[in-house]
Amino acid sequence: MSRLIVVSNRVNPPADKGVGTAGGLAMALSAALREDKGLWFGWSGETVETYSGQMSMQVVGGVTVALLDLEEQDREEYYNGYANRTLWPLFHYRTDLVNYERSFDEGYERVNTRFAETLLPLIGPDDVIWVQDYHLIPLGRELRKRGVKNRIGFFLHIPWPARRVLNTLPRHAELVESMFAYDLIGFQTEDDSEAFNDYVMHDMGAEVFADGVVRAHGQTTRVKAFPIGIDADDFAATLKSDKAQDYRQRMLKSQVGRKMILGVDRLDYSKGLEERFAAYETLLDKYPDLQTQVFMLQIATRSRDAVDAYQDLRERLDTISGQINGAYATVEWVPLRYVNRPYRRDELAGIYASAHVGLVTPLRDGMNLVAKEYVAAQPPEDPGVLVLSEFAGAAEQMKEALIVNPMSREDVAEAIRKGLSMPLKERKARWELLMDKVQKSDVSRWRDDFVSLLKAPITPERPKVVPMASAQKIQSTVA
Ligand code: ADP
Repeated sequence: MSRLIVVSNRVNPPADKGVGTAGGLAMALSAALREDKGLWFGWSGETVETYSGQMSMQVVGGVTVALLDLEEQDREEYYNGYANRTLWPLFHYRTDLVNYERSFDEGYERVNTRFAETLLPLIGPDDVIWVQDYHLIPLGRELRKRGVKNRIGFFLHIPWPARRVLNTLPRHAELVESMFAYDLIGFQTEDDSEAFNDYVMHDMGAEVFADGVVRAHGQTTRVKAFPIGIDADDFAATLKSDKAQDYRQRMLKSQVGRKMILGVDRLDYSKGLEERFAAYETLLDKYPDLQTQVFMLQIATRSRDAVDAYQDLRERLDTISGQINGAYATVEWVPLRYVNRPYRRDELAGIYASAHVGLVTPLRDGMNLVAKEYVAAQPPEDPGVLVLSEFAGAAEQMKEALIVNPMSREDVAEAIRKGLSMPLKERKARWELLMDKVQKSDVSRWRDDFVSLLKAPITPERPKVVPMASAQKIQSTVA
């Protein structure tokens, strides 16, 4: 029997659908695996004194999971090191925050080897293997080295950077070459796929075919964009729950007639929180009539506390939020409610439903599921307005949002103002189009599209896409 095996860094299926505070990836994967009788393999998040390769198998929330313990050195070099201090900032265009050390690289290779060795005995002849995200880029190559002939796919949840940004990573060529071990490489957006193709054409002399097939150094893979979505049915059910409705009512009551601008994010420098606070300050400054009529609720759950850049950001946000409240608050009105604790999914659904403007302004984001959840939570008879960064992957699909450049506090302030005063008819028209996309392009579709293409045989020999450099040469010859 052919099973789906999903491999990711952390394995954290929510035990109870409504209660989970898991990130977008965890929600998406558990939804995909629940019905499939598949297997989810990854790190337990625990460390042991000496790595033994022992696994524990269990069923969590209807999903069979196999968990591997790592060593403390693995956590430091692979997880806190190469994944979160090197690749994450680099792929989010924060070269200023990239910290590269050879030991991180070695830890990354070591853990990917450990994953491959432990997974190997679990793989059946017909299983299809789906590797997730930037922690495990070389895993496919490690499995191939050990004789695995199964179909293996890879999906990157974060952006793929521009070629010259990637070139700043020591040993970037080895990293990208390892990806040719996969039968299919999925990205969140067309932009990401194009950036990948641009790299392989220029740096590896690859041939890129119109159907996404890519050939280099005698190896063939296939590249395609698969925008991830939310579990729309589950979200709709959560929204109807008593807890969600109760939260919505509580929020509406606490608004005392004021309009609420909402941000919900992990506390991460890619989310543009400082710029967002600055934009809100510009709004209050430029439109004093809005003061006391609106307020902003920013939920920013603490994340990756072991990494310095996250501690620094937290301190800066504490300061800026204090300054905004100090400067603008009155005895009856607090302009910014800044909250660091996590919320249950049903509570979050109720909070989204009560917000007049959903502010999603990352500086870079693979997709951003909060944007989709916000839309899914809106009451059809009186929907709120989504303000969305052009640098979120979601912007490629969600064109009916108010699209902004998150680097411009003026642009964002104007979009918030437009959202706050948008007539009901326009709000409904935009929301209906957005909701249709959120429902159609949901997580099951993402899974089905990826897995069915992964299973399909590669038949290249289609018209070749001309590399940009050659195209320019042809043009200049003609001129
Ligand atoms: P990322 O994966 O970078 O964190 P996404 O926007 O794609 O960003 O996914 C975030 C997920 O985490 C969403 O499903 C969202 O509901 C959830 N989430 C974000 N902040 C919180 C919070 N404070 N409490 C609970 N869930 C949260």
